[in-house]
Amino acid sequence: MSKEILYSATKPTGRLTLGNYIGAIKNWREMQENYSSVFAIADLHSLTIDIDSKELTDNIYSQFATFLAAGLDPEKSIIYCQSHVKEHAELAWIMNCFTYFGEASRMTQFKDANAKNKNISVGLFAYPMLMAADILLYNTNVVPVGVDQIQHVEICRDIANRFNSKYGETFVLPKGVTPKTGAKIMGLQNPTKKMAKSGDNDNDVIYIEDDNETIMRKFKRAVTDSLNRIKYCEEQPGVSNLLTIYSVMKNLSIEQAEKDFEGCGYGDLKTRTAEAVIEVITPIRSKMIELKSNRPYLDELMKKGALRASKIAQETLKKVYNKTGLVPLK
Ligand code: AMP
Repeated sequence: MSKEILYSATKPTGRLTLGNYIGAIKNWREMQENYSSVFAIADLHSLTIDIDSKELTDNIYSQFATFLAAGLDPEKSIIYCQSHVKEHAELAWIMNCFTYFGEASRMTQFKDANAKNKNISVGLFAYPMLMAADILLYNTNVVPVGVDQIQHVEICRDIANRFNSKYGETFVLPKGVTPKTGAKIMGLQNPTKKMAKSGDNDNDVIYIEDDNETIMRKFKRAVTDSLNRIKYCEEQPGVSNLLTIYSVMKNLSIEQAEKDFEGCGYGDLKTRTAEAVIEVITPIRSKMIELKSNRPYLDELMKKGALRASKIAQETLKKVYNKTGLVPLK
């Protein structure tokens, strides 16, 4: 029996974080053994925010290098940049035409951005439709994501369903899956908000590129509480976040992680969580730095990935255009 298809991506709006690693990349590495996997750098999505062009280029190479350094295997999986496969933008247009203004307006990511910033782009509004195109082009069955992206996978299913109802079975309906632990890693300074690349406070975020000293310093400054107990519970978001990170890094359950800290203080929790992160991240960071200095090698791999991705994407788009009644070029 052929393997199910998995699709997932990160957007190069900044340097990858520990949240991206735990919520996404670590699981991708494990899942690529059992799925036909497609991993993308969603660079077109990055243009939905105001981003410096040099920074964007650097982020694209960094993220591609991090994927490889973290164990994504270009022999087993398709790894590519979204903008190298033009069918993404084309199918996104079709997706726009099958999405209601109201449903797109209800997306939390859009509503949050809209509340914070007056000058948001149409691109940001249309983000879920581009993401739907990304997923549907590859006949995806499974989309591993952090909880922040589940709503976007749901709207993708709704759009696909609408298209299928009108034109007959065309798109495979994808399922969003989140990891059991670590689906939402919180900021170290503000543990009620997700750890995000574009956070305002550098101490809130652990970047995969952070050196060990920086990682230790940021964990030592992590916000906890005054309850003086190490327990995973709603009242203790900071402590719970540290326990989550520790448990994922050590491959333990939350209960086992709590046991590891019986009789310990918050100082111990912070230091040992930092040590656990450093142990996992150090080899990935070293490999990433080495790969990043070899752009021709990365370019070559990007090209191979894009060619493989294009083949699948072209077939899907052709099928979609045919169904809609557009006349193919003869
Ligand atoms: P993005 O940061 O939007 O490029 O997200 C790439 C992937 O990382 C998506 O699957 C997100 O859901 C996941 N992700 C991003 N931040 C976190 C976080 N703080 N905790 C868990 N998963 C995350």
